[in-house]
Amino acid sequence: MPGLPPEQWRLATRLVRGGLARTAFSETSEALFLNSGYVYDSALESEQSFDGTRERFVYSRFRNPTVAMFEDRLALVEGAEACRATSSGMAAVHAALLCQLRAGERVVASRALFGSCAWILSDLLLRFGIETVFVDGSDLDQWRAALAKPTRTVFIETPSNPTLEMIDIPAVAELTHAAGGTLIVDNVFATPLLQQPLALGADIVVYSATKHIDGQGRCLGGAILGTQAFIGDVLGPYLRHTGPCLSPFNAWVLLKGLETLELRVTRHVANAARVAAFLDGHAAMQKVIYPGLPSHPQYALGQSQMKGGGSIVAFEAKGGKERAFRFLDALSLIDISNNLGDAKSLITHPWTTTHQSRSPEEKLAMGITEGMLRLSVGLEDAEDLVDDLSQALSA
Ligand SMILES: *Cc1c(COP(=O)(O)O)cnc(C)c1O
Repeated sequence: MPGLPPEQWRLATRLVRGGLARTAFSETSEALFLNSGYVYDSALESEQSFDGTRERFVYSRFRNPTVAMFEDRLALVEGAEACRATSSGMAAVHAALLCQLRAGERVVASRALFGSCAWILSDLLLRFGIETVFVDGSDLDQWRAALAKPTRTVFIETPSNPTLEMIDIPAVAELTHAAGGTLIVDNVFATPLLQQPLALGADIVVYSATKHIDGQGRCLGGAILGTQAFIGDVLGPYLRHTGPCLSPFNAWVLLKGLETLELRVTRHVANAARVAAFLDGHAAMQKVIYPGLPSHPQYALGQSQMKGGGSIVAFEAKGGKERAFRFLDALSLIDISNNLGDAKSLITHPWTTTHQSRSPEEKLAMGITEGMLRLSVGLEDAEDLVDDLSQALSA
């Protein structure tokens, strides 16, 4: 009996079975093709594999069967026409921008960005004669003013790292399209489960799969999703010839990560909501930022475009950097680490780590203060996390 096509499967089924391409050995789990090259039955076949008349795997820098399973599964989960995987999240951000930009063109981006994204946009692109205009992402008037001129592409992170600022995706998508550009959304903090930028009007979505998609601290990876035309004609040749390809082994780990993503993200969000509520009510706090807290200045926007508050909480205790360091050193369960989206709860001091490369003025303009901490809430029992935060706050 013919079943439903994969596009009609419900989300949990797509996460577990999407893209599965079994070999002649009928294995249960996805096969790991740890090979760089492929062989041909004839010289003619090799010629046809390169002139485009024959579709097949030719070299793992271009495509690989295990990597393709990961790409097909993520595309199905995201509701995208196509996906290409990369070696890291930064490789995805870099390729998504560079593959479509030329000297003399203009980019608009939100100011509150992950440090390396900010470096590409403000430092690297300038070397190639591409200007980036930064706006306060939460201010639609600034978007309107910046996008009054023709713009090739717009890059946003929502919620942003680490200040959890949210950007109105449908509104910015409309302004971007009117300016003749494409909208790229870095959807790492929301995950494909909590926010689907393509359905909200964005053109391209990028991920660091290192974060929640692996979610267990094992490997780096990234992905770019969009239309078949963009992925095949614009991004495809760029990736093929520059080589930021995902290792088949990492793709295999990430395929396993997708299978449990929904279970994990649900628990991450429930734990983060509990931790945010605890911190919000604590007398030592100067500021607690979490998209799921009604005190978040953009709470209503979060409710309209996200299905949950996410797994990251940003906060600042009274007492600045000195207090923040004392608090970090007093934690006994939660680890000090600059990664996020992991099963283990991880906490970082963005001013001195992830945003070290930005000047103090830039950090303050992004909303990062010297006392701010970013907590990635893991999968432990939330009450143990609250106990650890509580004892460290009284240290
Ligand atoms: C971590 C991160 C990246 C970069 O991903 P890597 O896999 O570390 O290269 C990009 N954007 C955001 C929002 C991130 O959190």
